[in-house]
Amino acid sequence: MMMIGCHGLVWAGDFDPPGFERAVTRSRATGFDILELPLLDPYGFDVDAAIETLGRHPITITASLGQSRETDVTSEDLERVRAGEAKLNRAVDVLAALGSRHLVGVLFGELRKYSEPPTARARANGVAVIRSVADRAAEHGITLGIEVVNRYESNMINTATQALRYIDEVDRPNVVVHLDTYHMNIEESDMYRPVALCGDRLGYVHVGESHRGYLGSGTVDFPGFFRALDSISYDGPIVFETFSTAVVNENLSRMLAVWRNLWDDSDDLAQHALGFIRNGLRAVETIALH
Ligand code: MN
Repeated sequence: MMMIGCHGLVWAGDFDPPGFERAVTRSRATGFDILELPLLDPYGFDVDAAIETLGRHPITITASLGQSRETDVTSEDLERVRAGEAKLNRAVDVLAALGSRHLVGVLFGELRKYSEPPTARARANGVAVIRSVADRAAEHGITLGIEVVNRYESNMINTATQALRYIDEVDRPNVVVHLDTYHMNIEESDMYRPVALCGDRLGYVHVGESHRGYLGSGTVDFPGFFRALDSISYDGPIVFETFSTAVVNENLSRMLAVWRNLWDDSDDLAQHALGFIRNGLRAVETIALH
């Protein structure tokens, strides 16, 4: 049974205690199994308040982050590499306290448009950090998801094939591929083959439309993607991800180039997304049955 989740930025722009509580209670009320927490600043996150909120409103938590320039682990600047490693370790500790099992996203580098590829030394530095953070995460049963993103957000991991090569280098069982349909729609040849290539090394999924708006209102081939998930018997988290200027985290909005509104009603959007994902998975299931 696949767990279906909602990205926190559907509900709140900041994850201070009131923002976190709103995201938790709205995700639960809508019927999601998971809330994905954007953990861009794991040092500033109020863990005790979150534990208290989850005690009253239990829901499975996952978290995602992208690195900043100062914490880019795929760098020749060892100060940045160490800062990125410390940030990832702090994120693991936060998630361990929340009983979470997944830390995902662009953990491996700065999220931005590049004008050159990474050097071999920078790449090796990042691989070593991810390996060491994975060992710490494993002690808490936490899996790291390496998110495949488009060429304007990473100069290293734009396809499932590249992600598989990267996690081969990291060589830890709790490091998996994290695919996102929005990025796949830009970089991959289709929505089926990358999933099939990953097989049981696919450990996390973001579902986003081609413009990050309402599911089904863009060009992403969701039927093909859901069939692909079924073909590998995928049973990991599947999380709806979208961003709008209606719910603003200024840092992240700018990093992700959110320059226009694709929705303004969080409740309507989230209900629609959950129904869309459930219906898509259900349709595939009926084919398998007959
Ligand atoms: Mn994503």
